[in-house]
Amino acid sequence: MIYLDANATTPLHPAVLQAMMPALEGVFANPSSVHKPGQDARALVDRAREQCARALGCSEREIVFTSGGTESDLLAVRGLAPEGSRVVVSSVEHPAVFGACEGREVVRIGVDGDGLLDVAALANALPGAALCSIMAANNETGVLSPLEEIAGLCRRNGVLLHTDAVQAAGKMPLPLEHADLISLSAHKIGGPKGAGLLWIRNGLALRALQPGGHQERGRRGGTENVAGIVGLAEALSVAAASLPEEAPRLAALRDRLQAAAEGIPRSRVAGRNAPRVCNTLNVAFEGCDGETLLTALDLAGIAVSTGSACSSGTLEPSPVLLAMGHPPHLARAAIRFSLWRGTTPAQIDEVCRVLPDVVERCRSRPDRRERWRGSAS
Ligand code: PLP
Repeated sequence: MIYLDANATTPLHPAVLQAMMPALEGVFANPSSVHKPGQDARALVDRAREQCARALGCSEREIVFTSGGTESDLLAVRGLAPEGSRVVVSSVEHPAVFGACEGREVVRIGVDGDGLLDVAALANALPGAALCSIMAANNETGVLSPLEEIAGLCRRNGVLLHTDAVQAAGKMPLPLEHADLISLSAHKIGGPKGAGLLWIRNGLALRALQPGGHQERGRRGGTENVAGIVGLAEALSVAAASLPEEAPRLAALRDRLQAAAEGIPRSRVAGRNAPRVCNTLNVAFEGCDGETLLTALDLAGIAVSTGSACSSGTLEPSPVLLAMGHPPHLARAAIRFSLWRGTTPAQIDEVCRVLPDVVERCRSRPDRRERWRGSAS
C-alpha cells in the first residue's frame, strides 16, 4: 500500500515507539503519587516537557499537554474567549475550531480562489474581538496563512492570536514569534494518537476547561497520558531535527506529483498560486467523483483522502474548497495527497504512472451519486 494520507494521520516513528516503551511497560504509576513509582512517572512527564520546550524553543511553563489538536483548539478558544465574546476566524478553519467557537459571536473571514485570507477584511473585524484564531496551514489544501501580517494586525488591535498549527508541525518552522497560542497534535508527526499540546505564551492566563485537578498548573486537570506525552515529545524532537532535510525532500516529491496531475486534462490544483506546506496536494479532476476516485486508487494500492478525514464518509463537497470558490461539482471531484517521512520517489513514480488511467476510468463511469439517484427514482 502506498500511504498518502499523512494529513489524516501518520504511523508511529520507530524512535517514538522506542521512547514510549518504558511508559508502556515498566513505569505505570500515577505521576501525582508521592512514592518512588510515582516519581518515576513524574520524571518521564518532566523530561518530556523539557524535550518539547527544546524542540519548540520555548519555556516549559508555556506547555499544556492535551489529548490532541481538537482539545488544544477548544482550550485556546474557550479558555480565552468567554461566551458571547467575539472570535475572528477564517472560513477554512478545521471543524475543531468552529466547534470550539459555539456560543461566541463568530466572524468568518473569507479566502480568495487560492485559499489566501482576506487580510483587509480581517483588519476590519478585529477591533473589539477577544481572540483571533487562524490556522497556520490548511489541512485540505496545505495553503499557509500570512501569520506575520495577521500577528501585526492583532497586536495593533490588542487581540490575542491563536493558530492551529497541527498541519504545519514537522513541515515548517512553528510561528512562536507571531502567535500567542499554538495547537499541536502528536499523531500527524509520527507520534501517538490522543496526545497533543497547547503552547501558551508566558504570562497569559487561561480558564481551565477541565478543572478539578492540579495537573498542568491547574490549566488541564486529569491524570496525565504519560506514554502519549513521552511519544509527543519524541515526535516533536525528531520532526524538528529532520525538518531541514525533510521539507525540501517532500516538496520535491509533491511537485513531481503535482506536475503529473496537472498533465491530466481538466485538473485543478487547489491553492496552486499560494504558499503551501511541503507535503500536501489537493487536486480536482473535473468529471470525476472524488469518492469514486478514492476507491479506485485504494484498489490500486494507493491511500488518499477526499479532504478532511472528519468529513469523509459524507458526500458533501468540501467546505474548504467551496469557500475557495470551487463550484460544488469541482469540490466533489477533489482528492488530497499528503506525503510523509515514508513516502519514497519510487512510490510517487508509481502514483504518477497509474493516476491518468484511474482518472480516465472514473470519468467514463457514472459516479456513486448518479447511481444512487438512479436507484431512488
Ligand atoms: N486541526 C487540524 C488542522 C487538523 O488537521 C486536525 C486533524 O485532522 C485537528 C485539528 C484535530 O487534531 P486531533 O486529531 O489531534 O484532535
